[in-house]
Amino acid sequence: MSTVSAYAASDKTGHLTKTTIERREPGPHDVAIDIKFVGICHSDIHTVKAEWGTPNYPLVPGHEIAGVVTAVGAEVSKHKVGDHVGVGCMVNSCGHCSSCTAGLEQYCKNGATFTYNATDKDGTITQGGYSQAVVVDENFVVQIPDSLPLDKAAPLLCAGITLFSPLRHWQAGADTRLAIIGLGGLGHMGVKLGAAMGADVTVLSQSLKKMEDGLRLGAKHYYATADRDTFKKLRSSFDLILNTVSANLNLGAYLNLLDVDGTLVELGIPEHPMEVPAFPLALARRSLSGSNIGGIAETQEMLNFCAEHDVTPEIEVIAADYVNEAYERVLASDVRYRFVIDTSTI
Ligand code: NAP
Ligand code: ZN
Repeated sequence: MSTVSAYAASDKTGHLTKTTIERREPGPHDVAIDIKFVGICHSDIHTVKAEWGTPNYPLVPGHEIAGVVTAVGAEVSKHKVGDHVGVGCMVNSCGHCSSCTAGLEQYCKNGATFTYNATDKDGTITQGGYSQAVVVDENFVVQIPDSLPLDKAAPLLCAGITLFSPLRHWQAGADTRLAIIGLGGLGHMGVKLGAAMGADVTVLSQSLKKMEDGLRLGAKHYYATADRDTFKKLRSSFDLILNTVSANLNLGAYLNLLDVDGTLVELGIPEHPMEVPAFPLALARRSLSGSNIGGIAETQEMLNFCAEHDVTPEIEVIAADYVNEAYERVLASDVRYRFVIDTSTI
């Protein structure tokens, strides 16, 4: 066991304070990683504030981990000391169910082990990346291509793959009229990745405050959802809508923006259930779906795609002691567009 510094929440205020946690010694299939940067995902905030149920406190969040390998177990073949690597939202899965064998570990039928607040195979509760080091099974560690700096690579491990996977699944390309709801951490990656895949990208944001950014990041069109005319103007005009909003929306209004056979994919996971009216679905054979991160092979494919197409997030690197203020700013939609903690300051 080794003791490492970390930031943890102790109760549902979600307030984070400095502490120490234990990491296991690397087993034969494990990789020990010196964490350099970790992104702040809105899921971290939902979790520590008990919006998705009461978590196991004290809890160290963080599942956008980028770092350097410091040791590998005897059987490890995929990674070596000194490699730049990433860890996302999962650190294990059963490995033999139909989802795992199809490369969809995130949909493991026996329950994937998430990077924090999950029960690990040894019975301990997983603790995330707001910490100096982590030990992870080699199959849940991905290689970060040399051309991606580690601070900008970190948010790709959750925000990047969460948008890449549905864009691939619903085959976004040159013929796709794509709308992204919410220009936050996930949303801005959707704009960049969608544009890199050739789609015609529209941002649907609460206001026009971030319009200049949205257009610079690759969107062709930008509308304020506070303006009710937006919903009249854009009726039946998209093939695919990716909803990245962390709060409840009037889903019926957004479903009406899909053309016949269009699909709205729920990526945001707000605290409370949302109502789904049947008419907008039935009247144009529209679909409502959801998507959770992506599999490990697809995460590697996404990192390679980002390196090849020069797609990286817009980040604000912060010291660890700014984390509570950063949370407040995320909640106020005042982040352009992802906070990343420099873990040398933990
Ligand atoms: P974020 O950076 O806070 O972005 C969310 C965006 O939603 C905001 O920037 C804002 O965009 C919009 N928004 C916020 N409150 C709103 C409201 N009351 N009404 C309308 N729009 C609102 O969060 P994130 O890290 O991108 O995460 C977004 C959601 O995705 C969270 O619920 C998170 O848990 C979830 N998530 C899901 C997965 C998955 O695999 N499915 C993975 C990661 C995260 P504008 O300012 O442009 O309006
Ligand atoms: Zn996340």
